[in-house]
Amino acid sequence: MIENETLLAPDEPPAYATLGAPNDAPFLIVCDHAGRLLPRRLGTLGVSESERQRHIAWDIGAAAVATRMAQSLSAFAILQTYSRLVIDCNRSPTVPTSIATVSEDTQIPGNRDLSPADVTRRVEAIFRPYHDRIAAELDRRASLAIPTALIAVHSFTPVYRGVSRPWHAGLLYNRDPRLGRALIRLLQQEGGLVIGDNEPYAVSDESDYTIPVHAERRGLPYAEIEIRQDLIADEAGQEVWAERMSRLSRIAWRTVSA
Ligand SMILES: [Zn+2]
Repeated sequence: MIENETLLAPDEPPAYATLGAPNDAPFLIVCDHAGRLLPRRLGTLGVSESERQRHIAWDIGAAAVATRMAQSLSAFAILQTYSRLVIDCNRSPTVPTSIATVSEDTQIPGNRDLSPADVTRRVEAIFRPYHDRIAAELDRRASLAIPTALIAVHSFTPVYRGVSRPWHAGLLYNRDPRLGRALIRLLQQEGGLVIGDNEPYAVSDESDYTIPVHAERRGLPYAEIEIRQDLIADEAGQEVWAERMSRLSRIAWRTVSA
């Protein structure tokens, strides 16, 4: 690769897509792992097509749920376009898992032996524009004193390294459990759902970026939502979960903002 060239060609999609227009609804919705595109310059990263369709490349179903939630909540949404195999937009670029050389048990040959310039190009082309857009919207809202909760939509694989996961969905948090715990209680009241409380993951400064940086540093309430991928693999499931999470987010927001 020529040193001064950018990662994305002018005709390739930008690093993120937005839905709706910036407004004063209480929610900003983000989706760090919405897309699974690879920049043309990176080819396939040495990963087969079938592997590039798996959860290691993106959060299956998450973009569709985020899109429906944005419509239902009249919320502005910012969705990442490129695969997390290129660079994980929910990791600090300073941690080793930012550009993974192995994901679950799949080798990513195109991520091995990258030069500092290769890494910088991915940060500048994909990671930075996405997070700058989120920061700009939160700055705008702060300047207008618009009450704001950040909602990050993710999905998780039902089986990880051979172990089945019992949860239908989970809420993740670290320093600020307000909105997450309110949603957990509401989801449990729906009946018949197994809801993870900081499961299947927990938020940390090492394993996450979006919530610690954009919500916790600003003192904003947030919900990091994880939904099991098999439940939102088709449109019917996406609609059920988007309706449920939108309805309950409204109620949870009232308890937090009261
Ligand atoms: Zn995710």
